Amino acid sequence: MELKFYNSMTRQIEPFKTLNPGEVGMYTCGPTVYNYAHIGNFRAYLFEDFLRRTLEFAGNNVKQVMNLTDVDDKTIRGSQAAGQALKAYTKPYIEAFFADLKTLNVEPAAVYPAATDHIPEMLNLISALFDKGIAYKSDDGSVYFSVSKYENYGKLAHIDREAMRSGVRINADEYEKEGVGDFALWKGWDEKDGDVVWDAPWGKGRPGWHLECSAMSMKYLGESFDLHTGGIDNLFPHHENEIAQAEAVTGKPFVHTWMHCAHLRVNGQKMSKSLGNFFTLRDLQEKGYTGREIRYVLLNAHYRQGLNFTFDALSAARAALARLDECTDALKARVATGTADDGVRVPSQLEAFGNALADDLNASEAFSACFAFVRAANAALTAGLSAAGAQAALDELAQMDRVLGFIFFGRAETTAIPAEIQALADERAAARAAKNWAESDRLRDELAAKGWQVRDSKEGQTLKPLA
Ligand code: AMP
Ligand code: ZN
Repeated sequence: MELKFYNSMTRQIEPFKTLNPGEVGMYTCGPTVYNYAHIGNFRAYLFEDFLRRTLEFAGNNVKQVMNLTDVDDKTIRGSQAAGQALKAYTKPYIEAFFADLKTLNVEPAAVYPAATDHIPEMLNLISALFDKGIAYKSDDGSVYFSVSKYENYGKLAHIDREAMRSGVRINADEYEKEGVGDFALWKGWDEKDGDVVWDAPWGKGRPGWHLECSAMSMKYLGESFDLHTGGIDNLFPHHENEIAQAEAVTGKPFVHTWMHCAHLRVNGQKMSKSLGNFFTLRDLQEKGYTGREIRYVLLNAHYRQGLNFTFDALSAARAALARLDECTDALKARVATGTADDGVRVPSQLEAFGNALADDLNASEAFSACFAFVRAANAALTAGLSAAGAQAALDELAQMDRVLGFIFFGRAETTAIPAEIQALADERAAARAAKNWAESDRLRDELAAKGWQVRDSKEGQTLKPLA
């Protein structure tokens, strides 16, 4: 399985290469924990989960690192408004974030480093940048990265350095700088920041946002690693600055492949906190939607294409998942009751599925392969698929689910059927076989009175506890 991905650095779809065969070091820009993440953010985290699962499906070992931005303007202002210490303020949002990832069946990263736990690593990077003559201190005590002193700036965003020097304002910032593109490595202490402050040889203050990702990615993945991801809004200036900080210090290529997902939109606009047009996962759960349904909707589009959020899409997801459930239920029933193996199998779609993923994560085609398999499985069930054939079909769906993560996830566990209930159901099956419809109906009512719903299908009876 040769994976090909669009690399934002080269702006081309290219074969995915790693430093060590079969091993992938992957860094993902994580949340700023001043509030609940919205489903636009989760589009990015789900794209990254899909990517990671695809890498694993293709046989790679993935070490994923996702940072938690727990110090910046927003977290500081939030903690002050709440009258809490910074860590106490961010803790519940970090916990909520992890709970939300679980709700969406996102595989956990290997490490979730928090910025406030990595200040020494960041100070080391700044010192090294001073040594190279690339960092400078401004009057307000902040430290900046001088873009004009670093030749390779702009390689990810493909920036015209001359245009930048001639004064195009590309990075709004509140402090005094020598060059318009220069960005803060360290923000000098300001009384607005209260007690959120660290000591540094060049004066007290706090780290800049870009710096944390360079410092923490290199700490956990090495000075050069394979893959770095985020939403498209991270590409510039955040990722550009990460590269500059890292490569200026190490002189080595920082990251080989950069991948970015397009935005989740609402009525044509980016879903964002500042526009107020956002839903959190919790908002949707309160409206009765499940993590499984939301996962389906957010994955069901190519990651580099904008995705418009609608409630119609959630309803469509519900219907699609119901079709999946019907099929997997019928397959399970057939495994339990089916005939001996006659060698017949549902024609596999795994190759088409893998090819779709390998083609720059073509999610829609991967979904299509899955549903084509479900249609074929339904047809095979009608044609009398054996127990072994049904088991093989379930195994294939389980393989696909390693990447999709919504086929078997989040389904109510089937409750064990008590012997007394099974006995009544067996009596009813016998009554039906004898065409004794009155007795069959009486037994159905008796089962209902005991809390069990019986349904008749081609597979025979199925029992479900009443809600
Ligand atoms: P933030 O907390 O704003 O730094 O965002 C966390 C992650 O979510 C980043 O990777 C962003 O690029 C991504 N993100 C933010 N808004 C959206 C959106 N509407 N659609 C997709 N990704 C987003
Ligand atoms: Zn980052």
